[in-house]
Amino acid sequence: MAEANDRVLRGMTNEGGFRVITARTTDTVRAAVAAQGATGIVAQRFGELLTAAVLYRETMAPQLRVQAILQGATGGQLVADSNPDGSARGLVRLPKAKDDITLAGGQLHMMRTMPRGDVHKGVVEVPKDTQGAPVSAALMSYLQTSEQVVSMMSVGCRIVDGEVTHAGGYILQLLPELEENLLMLMTERLEDFRSMEDLFDGIADSPEHLLSELLYGIPYTTLDDSEVRFACTCSQVRVMASLGTLGRADIEDLMSDGTPLEMNCDYCGTEYNVSPEQLRGMLDPT
Ligand SMILES: [Zn+2]
Repeated sequence: MAEANDRVLRGMTNEGGFRVITARTTDTVRAAVAAQGATGIVAQRFGELLTAAVLYRETMAPQLRVQAILQGATGGQLVADSNPDGSARGLVRLPKAKDDITLAGGQLHMMRTMPRGDVHKGVVEVPKDTQGAPVSAALMSYLQTSEQVVSMMSVGCRIVDGEVTHAGGYILQLLPELEENLLMLMTERLEDFRSMEDLFDGIADSPEHLLSELLYGIPYTTLDDSEVRFACTCSQVRVMASLGTLGRADIEDLMSDGTPLEMNCDYCGTEYNVSPEQLRGMLDPT
């Protein structure tokens, strides 16, 4: 496996007007797309959502677990998890008998898990007119309406001959200190940064380069630099724990044919086996 170069950077302009996050997520997205067997536009949107989840966590909740779910307007969903340790994973669920998910008019659900385990949840409708960028449009709308944060962002994922060649993005958050003239300057500049697709050929493969170009001429400080990678949080222990929530009759049903129970993780495909003895052990009173 190629060495992972995916990283996310957090910077802030010295005068305090902008917080900027830039990310390269190419290897992470490639692995997640492969694990889900996603192709075409679905794979592209999935890669964008995974990138958006990383950017969102780094902007709003670096220490928390974040999950983003895009619910299609006519069924299907894309799920992206981003964790504080840099690991990310996701799920692609297509609508029945379809190979595409209609995002415009669907919903974006954003969740972060608080340290004590309760979940902060918000939802917005994906704008009907997304200007060809439904994931960016949905997350910007979410940040504005649910979190009262004004931001500009772009995420992108390029797939050539079925292979993810580039994925990444940025989010630029406007802070209360922002001076009017800097806002004008940035608004004009971002016209050139509207589509990640246009940036992939030049600067977007390096998060440093993207950050320095976004903030060109504005003194800034890089506050954080961390790794991003595809990894799953599944384990035998978690599989057993999820089985433990089943009722007695369901467990007896699972062990009725006397063969090990085979389960595959939906996120990464890892296979887990649970023997009839282990299942029986769950029935014993403790
Ligand atoms: Zn897994």
